[in-house]
Amino acid sequence: MHRYFALLAAALFLLAACSPAGERTPTGGQAGPPARQEEAGEEPVYPPGVPVLMYHKIGDEPNNDAVISREKFLEQMAYLYQNRYHPISLEELYAYLTRGEKLPPRPVVITFDDGYRDTYEVALPVLKQYGFKSVLFIPGMQVGKRLSREELLEMKAAGMEIAAHGFYHRSLGVLSPREQEEEIRKSKEILDQTLGQDTRFFCYPNGSYNQETLRILRETGFVMAFTMEPGWAKPGDNLLALKRIWMGNRIDLTRLQQRLAREDYPRT
Ligand SMILES: [Zn+2]
Repeated sequence: MHRYFALLAAALFLLAACSPAGERTPTGGQAGPPARQEEAGEEPVYPPGVPVLMYHKIGDEPNNDAVISREKFLEQMAYLYQNRYHPISLEELYAYLTRGEKLPPRPVVITFDDGYRDTYEVALPVLKQYGFKSVLFIPGMQVGKRLSREELLEMKAAGMEIAAHGFYHRSLGVLSPREQEEEIRKSKEILDQTLGQDTRFFCYPNGSYNQETLRILRETGFVMAFTMEPGWAKPGDNLLALKRIWMGNRIDLTRLQQRLAREDYPRT
């Protein structure tokens, strides 16, 4: 009997001694945030989905949050590169959302709205340097104006998809169905003809649309469209109302990290 109690006491002692050590392991030692990031890089993103970053103008307007400074933009691209993010194309995003096709670890989409000169002059060189794919949403009326056909073809050849952003950049949600039809049809025609492509991706000017817009987009041959509502693009989402993440002067590296880490990032 004594031996039995001695064994039991020894076992209980071992349990008590092991338990705290076991609890220390995950949080102790050198396992801080950087190590967790490395581990996450090899795992599928959880929750499933892809952050779609939305840039507009790059330039020196510190009080305008629709603009991001050149320094901040370069810093963000360097961050994506150093932390092994993989910017993917809209074709890849579409294949993932509709057919569940596999994406590289840490996928992200980099989009530029409106076709500013700086997308070509500032963004393109650094995107090329890192081998990053990206997307330009350009209003039809800016084709051959802000950016020439040759420049657009050069951007396309460098891995920047050129997609539609209305024709006159009008807010579609307040237009009549006939006006919307014209905006949407013309925005596709000019890109198809100028760039020799079948334009299937759209972005709502000013984020504005209604149920009619969705119907017209489908009938015109668009299969995916982006809003300005915050969040990630996820399987099961309405493909014609995908969310994006606002990028501007206010988004420092901490805020960028939050936005890349999870869909319900702090909206501050
Ligand atoms: Zn726009």
